[in-house]
Amino acid sequence: MNASAPQPLVFHARPGRDIAARLANVVTGDVLTDAASCARYSTDASIYQVQPLAVLVPASDDDVRAAMDVCAQASVPIIARGAGSSQCGQTVGAGLVVDHSKHLTRIIAFDAAARTVTVEPGIVLDQLNGWLRKHGLWFPVDVSTSAQCTLGGMAGNNSCGSRSLLYGNMVHNVVAIDARLADGTDARFGPERDMDNASPRLRDLVASLRAIGARERDEIARVVPRVMRRVGGYNADVFNPQSERPYTADGSVNFAHLLVGSEGTLAWTRTLTLQLAPLPRHRALGVVNFASLHAAMSSTSDLVALGPSAVELVDRTMIDLALANPAFRPVVERALTGEPEAILLVEFTGDDAAATRRKLDDLEDALARRGLEKQLVKIPQAADQKALWDVRKAGLNIMMSLRGDGKPVSFVEDCAVPLAHLADYVDRLSGIFRRHGTRGTWYAHASVGTLHVRPILDMRRDGAQKMRAIAEETAAIVREYKGAFSGEHGDGLVRSEWVSWQFGPRLTRALEEIKDLFDPAGRMNPGKIVRPTRMDDASLFRFPPAHRTLAVATGLDWSAWDVQNDPLTGALSAPGSGADPAQGFAKAVEMCNNNGHCRKFDAGTMCPSYRVTRDEIHLTRGRANTLRHALSGAFGASIASSDVRAALDLCVGCKGCRRECPTGIDMARMKIEFEHQWQREHGVALRDRLIAFLPRWAPFAARAAPLMNLRNRMPAIAELMQRPTGIAARRSLPRWRRDTFGGDAQTSSGDAGADVVLLVDTFTRYFEPENADAALRVLRAAGFSVAIAAPNAADGSRPLCCGRTFLAQGLVDEARREAVRMLDALSPHAARGATIVGLEPSCLLTLRDEFVALGLGERARTLASRALLIEEFLVLENEAGRLDLPLGALTQRRALVHGHCHQKAFDAAGAVVKTLRWIPGLDVEAIESSCCGMAGAFGYGVDHYDVSMRMAELSLLPAVRTAAADTLIVADGTSCRHQIADGTRESGPRDAVHAIRVLAGALRDAAGAAAPTHVDRTLS
Ligand SMILES: Cc1cc2nc3c(=O)[nH]c(=O)nc-3n(C[C@H](O)[C@H](O)[C@H](O)COP(=O)(O)OP(=O)(O)OC[C@H]3O[C@@H](n4cnc5c(N)ncnc54)[C@H](O)[C@@H]3O)c2cc1C
Ligand code: SF4
Ligand code: SF4
Repeated sequence: MNASAPQPLVFHARPGRDIAARLANVVTGDVLTDAASCARYSTDASIYQVQPLAVLVPASDDDVRAAMDVCAQASVPIIARGAGSSQCGQTVGAGLVVDHSKHLTRIIAFDAAARTVTVEPGIVLDQLNGWLRKHGLWFPVDVSTSAQCTLGGMAGNNSCGSRSLLYGNMVHNVVAIDARLADGTDARFGPERDMDNASPRLRDLVASLRAIGARERDEIARVVPRVMRRVGGYNADVFNPQSERPYTADGSVNFAHLLVGSEGTLAWTRTLTLQLAPLPRHRALGVVNFASLHAAMSSTSDLVALGPSAVELVDRTMIDLALANPAFRPVVERALTGEPEAILLVEFTGDDAAATRRKLDDLEDALARRGLEKQLVKIPQAADQKALWDVRKAGLNIMMSLRGDGKPVSFVEDCAVPLAHLADYVDRLSGIFRRHGTRGTWYAHASVGTLHVRPILDMRRDGAQKMRAIAEETAAIVREYKGAFSGEHGDGLVRSEWVSWQFGPRLTRALEEIKDLFDPAGRMNPGKIVRPTRMDDASLFRFPPAHRTLAVATGLDWSAWDVQNDPLTGALSAPGSGADPAQGFAKAVEMCNNNGHCRKFDAGTMCPSYRVTRDEIHLTRGRANTLRHALSGAFGASIASSDVRAALDLCVGCKGCRRECPTGIDMARMKIEFEHQWQREHGVALRDRLIAFLPRWAPFAARAAPLMNLRNRMPAIAELMQRPTGIAARRSLPRWRRDTFGGDAQTSSGDAGADVVLLVDTFTRYFEPENADAALRVLRAAGFSVAIAAPNAADGSRPLCCGRTFLAQGLVDEARREAVRMLDALSPHAARGATIVGLEPSCLLTLRDEFVALGLGERARTLASRALLIEEFLVLENEAGRLDLPLGALTQRRALVHGHCHQKAFDAAGAVVKTLRWIPGLDVEAIESSCCGMAGAFGYGVDHYDVSMRMAELSLLPAVRTAAADTLIVADGTSCRHQIADGTRESGPRDAVHAIRVLAGALRDAAGAAAPTHVDRTLS
C-alpha cells in the first residue's frame, strides 16, 4: 500500500469486551462495547476524538460503585460524562466512559430556608431551574448550554454563566460534594469545619491537602492570576484565595471547591449540594451600540461600575450572522441604532421594578456624559429581553454553522484579562489572527474580561500548526496582562498542557501531588489537567491527517455543503467544489459539532426519540456521529451498515433538527439518503414497498374499501397480517373511502388562470376528501378562483403525488419521477405566479424541501417558492389586505392546536393558530408538543408502536385528554389525527380535525346571521 495514502480507520476486536463482560455481571445499567456505541462516545464539543474501551450508562449509584471496583481490578481508566458538551476534550479517553445523564437525575433534598438543593450529577440545569421556579429560586450559574448540560458536568468544568459578575462561577455556588474516590471510598467534601469527623482515609487526605496549601501559600499568591474567571488547574487557592470574588462569604476553606473544576480527574461526583438564589423579580436591559469593537471594550469597565448583573458583547460578524437568520433578525433589529461594529448588552436586576428601571436611566446618564446616549436602546419587555438573550446564547452555534472544512476552533476562546486591558487585548489578538491568515468573531462575557473568540482553522490541513503558533502568541499577551489562559471552558485535552505554563513548575508539581493523593493509580480521567498530552497531538483529533471519506454516489443533492470557505472573509466556494468524495453528504454530516443542544427537553420538537429513550444512539448527535464514522469507513467499506440503520431506526423524520439544530443538521434528509443507500445495497423489503407504493395502489384499495376496512373491525385479521406487513395489530388503519375526492376519474386542472392551485394529496383524496371540499369552500368564499392540481394530459390519469412515501423508504428515484410529474404539471402555474396550496403538511412541504434536494434545478426552486400550506396562504393574503373571509361563531368556544412537525420546521404552525383566531369567540391555544409519534408510517410499525405511543404521551395526549369535551382538537397532519384517535380510544375517544374544516364550519353566507355552527368529524 502506498505509504502516503490515507488509511481507513477500522475498529478491531475491542479490548473493552473483557471489562464489559465483567461489568455485565455486576451492574444493571447498560454496558456498551460495540464499535458504533463507542464511536458515539468518542467525542464531545471539542476537536478531539478518542475511542473509549466501553461505555456504562449506570442505572444507579451502585452501578458506578461496581464499575469503579471492576476498573480498579483491571487498571482501566474511568471517564465521567454528563451531556458531553465540553469544548476541550474533557470527556474523551481510552477507558470506561460513564454516562450519568440518563438515570442519575434525581433531586435528593431541598431546604427552602437555607436555599440549598442536593442533586444527583445527571440532572440538567434547565430542568432543575424549572423545578425550583415554584419556590421563587434558581441555580444562577446560567451557562449557554443550560438546556442540556448536567450539574455534574458543570461542577467538573467549574462552569460560568453570563451573570457570573453577580453570582460567580460554579465554585462560588457549590456547598458540598458527596464523592467517591478511585479506591472506592465515599467521602463528603464540604466546609473545613465539617471535615474533622470524616473517615480516616479522608482525614489523611485532608491533612495532606492542608500541608500542600500551607507549603505553597506564597507560590499560590505569586502565580495564580487574580481574576474571577480562572478555571485552569485545580483550585489550590482554596487555601489562599486569589479570585476577585472569594469562594466563600467568610473566607473559610471548603474542600468541595477543590473538586469543582477538576474535570473528573480526582473523584466521581455522586451528589452535589448547591447554593440557590432568589429569582430576580425584575430585569432591565439596555443595548449600547458602538462604532468600533475597541470603543465597546474601552467602555466596559465604566459600565460594570454601574452595578449590572451582566455586560455581554456581540460583535459585527455575529450581528450579521444573526440578521441572516430569519428567526433572529427581528430580535436583533430591535436592538440596533444604525450599523454598529459591536453592541454591549447591559442588564440590571432587582426586586423593585422602579429601582431596576432607574438603573437604565443611570446607564443613559453615563452614556450622555460621553455623548453616547443616542446609542442606547432600552428593551423594557421581558419577552424581548429573553429573545435577545437567546440570540446571545446561540452565539457560538451561529458561528459554527459556517460550511466548509475551516471551522472556528476553540483553544484561546476564553482567556480572561483584567478589564483595563480588554480593548488592547482584543486589538492585539485580532492582529495575531490576521498574521496567521484568519480572523475571529468576538462575543460574550465582557463584564468579567472573558471574551469568546475562535479563529477559523482547517484542522485537516495546517490547522494544528497555526493553532500552536496562535496559542503561544496569545499566551504571551495574557501573561503580560496578568490574566488567565483558561477562563471558562476548562482544560481538557486542549489546555491541560498550559497548566504548567500558567502556574509554573513548582505549583504544577503541587497539583500533581494533589492528583496523586486522590487517585494514586491515575485512573480518573488521565491526561487532563496534570500529566497532559499536547494540544496539537493530531492522533487525538476528530479529523486526524489520516481521516478519509468513503466515495458515495448520493441520491439527493448535497452540493451546497460540498464547499470550502475563506478563513478571512468566510466566503464560500461554489457548490460542489469542496472535494468531498461523498458529494457533500459527509460535509453535511460533519456540521454536527457535538454541542448537544438536541438533548434539550424544553419547547420545540428536537429530538422526540431522545426525549423518550434518553439514549445517545437515539439522539440527533448520536446519529450524526454514527454517520460520520460510517462515512470514514469505520464500519466497513459502505455506509449502508446495520450500525447506522440501528441509529436511524427511531428517527421519525420530524425535521425538528432541521430548524432547531444550531448548525442545521437535517437528519430527516440524511435518513432519506441513508435509506436510499441501504435499499440500493440490500433491496427493498416487502413492508417498505407496501408503504412506499401506497399512492399507486390506493385507487384499487378505495374501490374495495369495505373489504380493506374489515381489518379494523376484526382483530384476528390484524393479528394475522402483523407478521407479513409489519403493521402493529394494535393499530387501527386509516379508513378507506369509496367516495374519494374527485371520484374515480382524475380531476382536471380546471381554470388555467386560477389564483390558487389546490394540491389534493393521496391521504386527503382517499381518506378524508371532506378536507379538500372544505378548502374549496373557504378559498371560494374568500373570492379566489381555484384549480385542482392534476397531471398533464400526456401523463396518464394517475393523480399527482409528492413522493413522500417513496422518500420515507429511501426510494429516491421513484420520488424523483413523481416530482418531475408534479413539476411538469405545476411549473406553468408557478411560473405565472399562481400559488400552489396544500392541506397535508408533509406532502405540501415536500415541494418546498425535498424537491429542491432532489437536484431538479430552477423549476423546483420556483415551485418551492410558490408552494404554501392553506393557512399560510390565507395569512399572507390577509396581511396584504386581500382577504375577506366571512366567518361567524361556532358552538365550540375553544380550540387546541397540535402543529405537525414539518409545519413547525417551516415556521408554518403559527399560521394555523392565526387563522383560527379569526373565528369570533374562539379561544385558540397551541399545544406545546413535540412529534405526535406517528410520523407517517413510523408509528404503524410493530417494532415502533411502543416508542410511538410514548412520544405521544410526552405532552400531546395528556393535553388532549384533559381538554373539555367541547374543545376542538385541531391537527393538520393526517397521521397526527390518527395518533390522537388511537391514543384516546381507551381513555375516552377524541377526534381531531384539520383547521380548514373548522374555518369552513365557521363560514357564513351573505346574510351572515346564522346561529353558531358545530364542527365535528362527521363525514359530509
Ligand atoms: C455551544 C456551547 C456553549 C457553551 N457555553 C458555556 C458557558 O456559557 N459557560 C460554560 O461554563 N461552559 C459552556 N460550555 C461548555 C459546557 O457546555 C459546560 O462546561 C457544561 O457545564 C458541561 O456540562 P456537561 O453535562 O456537558 O458536562 P460534560 O462535558 O459531560 O463533562 C464535563 C466535565 O465534568 C466531568 N464530570 C462529569 N460528570 C462527572 C461526575 N459525576 N463526577 C466527576 N466528574 C464529572 C467530566 O469528566 C468532564 O471533565 C459551552 C459549550 C458549548 C458547546
Ligand atoms: S445534531 Fe445539532 S444540536 Fe445536536 S449536537 Fe449536533 S450540532 Fe448540536
Ligand atoms: S428528524 Fe426528528 S427524530 Fe430525527 S433526528 Fe431530527 S429531531 Fe430527531
